[in-house]
Amino acid sequence: MVWLPMSLTPAIHRHHTGAHLRPKILLAILLSAPFACTTSTLAQNSDQSRLQNPSQSRSGSAKQNNAPSRASQPDLLIVGGQVIDGTGAALRAADLGIRSDRIVFLGDARKAKLIAARTIDARGLIVAPGFIDPHTHAGSDLSALGRNSNLNYLMQGVTTVIVGNDGGGSPHPARILDSWEKQGIGTNAVLLVGHGTVRREILGSGNIQPTPEQLESMKSLVRGAMREGSFGLSTGLFYVPGSFAHTEEVIELAKAAAELGGYYDSHMRDEDSYSIGLLGSIAETIRIAREAHIPVHISHIKALGPQVWGKSIEVIAMVEKARAEGLDVTADQYPYTSSGSSLIASLLPPWAQAGTQSEILERLDDKGLRPRLLQEIEDNLKRRGGPDSLLFTSSEAPELLGKKLAAVAQEKNLPPVEAALQIMRERKLSGLAVASFNMDEADVARFMKQPWVMTGSDGSAGHPRLYGTYPRKLRVYVLEKKVVPLSVAIRASTSQPAELAHIPERGTLRENFYADVIAFDPATVADQSTYEHPQQLAIGMKYVLVNGTLAVDQGKYTGALAGRALRKLSAHSRAK
Ligand SMILES: [Zn+2]
Repeated sequence: MVWLPMSLTPAIHRHHTGAHLRPKILLAILLSAPFACTTSTLAQNSDQSRLQNPSQSRSGSAKQNNAPSRASQPDLLIVGGQVIDGTGAALRAADLGIRSDRIVFLGDARKAKLIAARTIDARGLIVAPGFIDPHTHAGSDLSALGRNSNLNYLMQGVTTVIVGNDGGGSPHPARILDSWEKQGIGTNAVLLVGHGTVRREILGSGNIQPTPEQLESMKSLVRGAMREGSFGLSTGLFYVPGSFAHTEEVIELAKAAAELGGYYDSHMRDEDSYSIGLLGSIAETIRIAREAHIPVHISHIKALGPQVWGKSIEVIAMVEKARAEGLDVTADQYPYTSSGSSLIASLLPPWAQAGTQSEILERLDDKGLRPRLLQEIEDNLKRRGGPDSLLFTSSEAPELLGKKLAAVAQEKNLPPVEAALQIMRERKLSGLAVASFNMDEADVARFMKQPWVMTGSDGSAGHPRLYGTYPRKLRVYVLEKKVVPLSVAIRASTSQPAELAHIPERGTLRENFYADVIAFDPATVADQSTYEHPQQLAIGMKYVLVNGTLAVDQGKYTGALAGRALRKLSAHSRAK
């Protein structure tokens, strides 16, 4: 349906007197004169804001009344670029006009006689919507002064991050969103409420089941978080304490999120063969979609470990079947064959991870538990692909950084399993981030090609994906290996996550949408982060606009904190 502002209707009739205007003709007229279409309403909006702000009105209104056409010119033009709009449509030559925080023009700027205070020459560049990352751990950066620019994401072209994944999002988002607004953030941010956090608040971290009253309290926390602005519910059923929850509990909480229009995002119970298996976890996720009537999203879809390599074929078949049934099942993926985790989560069985830090450490020293613990760690290490597949990546533990478990075990002259236990004890469970090389390239490519798989970084400290996901997908999987075409990769990074989370008016280059826009050089765009140097900023993003403000200009960060803390129920955002 084409939206037609009232003010434009008489003009159309003047041009086409007597003609009956079918929708197709209307669309053609709008496309040829979109400038008039969108800016008229924007001018009205800014007039309204002037009425509320008399000092602004004195300086602007006289000019405004005498020369309305000048007042409706864009502030910024991006001309001569190849535009890819995020819908999956192919590249086309087009100019983009931006006024305040909105896109107001998409077309031929010269023909439309547009002049702006600044014009960016985008010849040779690809102009696209800013990327929306459905799975990040950027919350602590956004909250920390000095890191709140979210620079590692901006330099990848990411303009909106979703935070609170893996079951970790706060049930009290309002105060976080308020603090981000007050202090300023470099990208937009969206929060999910986390099942693990909710469970911990009501039940603690132990292996226990809720009473009906406790379950009600958990549901109230989810509803409260949704009312405060969360966009959905995340789970980390692989992690303690999420791993202790039965599916029925998760379904109940998902229903609470669904009541308020939320979606369900899951780090599934098992991506390998730890407990219910990869396929069992896909089945569990689909069951949650069916019984809670909620869109479900599989975080960082993968076949983790040699024992399940090739199972992407069956996973895809199960998801396709569910989608054919009408269930809304999607996924995201990062373009690497290693995952980022901790030595604890990778190797310790859930029963050994229950409770507080001191309880876990006591368990590690328990002579009675030792044989069972060693055996289960051995099994988990095998699932991960052995001691040569775990690389220590935390700068908190410089003595381990850049070494694989196999090498550390050799230094210690211990079997790998014993070495792992000793490291956990020595480091008191902290600073044990690892990159776990456990994926097969064929599975990665197969998942990437599915029309329901989006891009998501799952950025975590020490793993190069935190700084490199989006440019790496463009450089390696689009331009070099040609696994997916550019339009598909861009759609998977823009309009699809916007639709998933119901983020309004973002994710597509379209008039009247927010001006979250990037322009990158396809000849140079690339990740620079490696396992040895994971904190190298990506290159090739020449311009990044967040809500119409240049955050990256000619490849350099401008210092802008133009992001907004987005809230589900107020839909749009509270400006700074
Ligand atoms: Zn995860």
